[in-house]
Amino acid sequence: MKKATCKDMRGACDQEFEGETPEEMGGKCREHVMQMVQSGDAGHKAALDSMMAQSKEDQEKWYNEFRANFASLQDV
Ligand SMILES: [Zn+2]
Repeated sequence: MKKATCKDMRGACDQEFEGETPEEMGGKCREHVMQMVQSGDAGHKAALDSMMAQSKEDQEKWYNEFRANFASLQDV
């Protein structure tokens, strides 16, 4: 099991997420970001906007890097 913070995943806070796979961890973070945006958090809204402003290619590139670096994340 690995852990990374919301910020590590281009979010806006230091909340930690754990996961066995990049998909699991990314999914938890995405859910968290959406909840924060819905509750009116400006920081997460800005983070989400900057993610959305990227092209599909750039989003995929970032995600591929995140997957490649997953093994080097902190173990839980
Ligand atoms: Zn967050």
